[in-house]
Amino acid sequence: MNNKSFKAFIIENKDDSGLIKTLALEDLMDGDVTVKVFFSSFNFKDGLAITQRIPIIKRFPMIPGVDFAGEVVESYSKNYKTGDSVILNGWGAGESHYGGFSQYARVPSEWLIKLPNTFNYEEAMILGTAGYTAALCVMEIISRIKANKENKILVTGASGGVGSICVYLLAKLGYVVTALSGKDKDFLINIGASHVLDREEFQLSNKPLQKEIWSGAIDTVGSNVLSTMLSQIRYNGIVASTGLAKGPELITTVYPFILRNITLAGVDCVLAPYDKRIKAWKFLSDLIDRDILKTLKTLNCLSDLKKLAERITSGKIAGRTIIDVNKT
Ligand code: NDP
Repeated sequence: MNNKSFKAFIIENKDDSGLIKTLALEDLMDGDVTVKVFFSSFNFKDGLAITQRIPIIKRFPMIPGVDFAGEVVESYSKNYKTGDSVILNGWGAGESHYGGFSQYARVPSEWLIKLPNTFNYEEAMILGTAGYTAALCVMEIISRIKANKENKILVTGASGGVGSICVYLLAKLGYVVTALSGKDKDFLINIGASHVLDREEFQLSNKPLQKEIWSGAIDTVGSNVLSTMLSQIRYNGIVASTGLAKGPELITTVYPFILRNITLAGVDCVLAPYDKRIKAWKFLSDLIDRDILKTLKTLNCLSDLKKLAERITSGKIAGRTIIDVNKT
């Protein structure tokens, strides 16, 4: 089986933006499970990896793609057998281990989870890393803030992958969601936002404490958007910080924390333990209406990756972009 050939998008070195190449299964990295990949999804981190704006890739050559959904074709693990449907998110896929922009992947079995039977391969990747991260963020909000019409939650980068799924999940649970976005209002209203705040109209401020507005917030953009929102969080509120689409810096004061008892909760999906992943995917299975996934989806193929990388890193992509890796 090891000499079977297949296509993958591969980045050879730090000056390369990647090419589709033909590889053999024996070229894949170590792992006890080999998967025939059907879909991967296109995440902000993949855009950063392909454009190499920041050093996401830890070794070369590398196949980017932080997630995939596919079928097990070879397994030396007692937990998986040939024919099992699996998904992978994170664990260094696309960074230090060959990732999902490939027709085959080989990974350690501990990185995989079984595909929840509520979703098919395509739907699992419409959610993908963004959906699973959104679930982790919303679970943080639920841990502190009751879902009711009194509680306003702010979501930033709201039209993006993580943001849009957060908007949908929070609205479905009964929160009042304000979406902060630079894009089309109708899309955000359709997925559940009660209000859309234009990014240009959001008043950035250095004041340590402003009028209390939000019971909670999910932030995917970082920088002065995050520092401004911290000063507007109500007493006992929480901010789940998961992204840096605007920038990684955060200049703030301790006042919102020590005078308003607020929590800044970091959310990482890459190294989240197995139990937490299962809980997050169950949460998605329980709450996601499969019809909404069609409205979030844009379908692309391996030859679109470079163009997508430029678009996502300049904030131009809305919803979820999935990659049919068997189309070049
Ligand atoms: P997307 O590109 O799909 O969404 C990002 C959104 O942020 C954009 O659509 C845009 O939304 C907004 N945005 C982009 N640039 C700017 C800017 N300069 N200023 C303000 N807003 C901007 O990315 P994802 O949803 O996939 O990821 C969002 C962030 O979360 C990324 O930083 C990503 O790396 C991070 N992430 C972190 C994970 C973790 O484990 N910690 C896991 C997954 C993602 P709009 O126009 O609506 O404002």
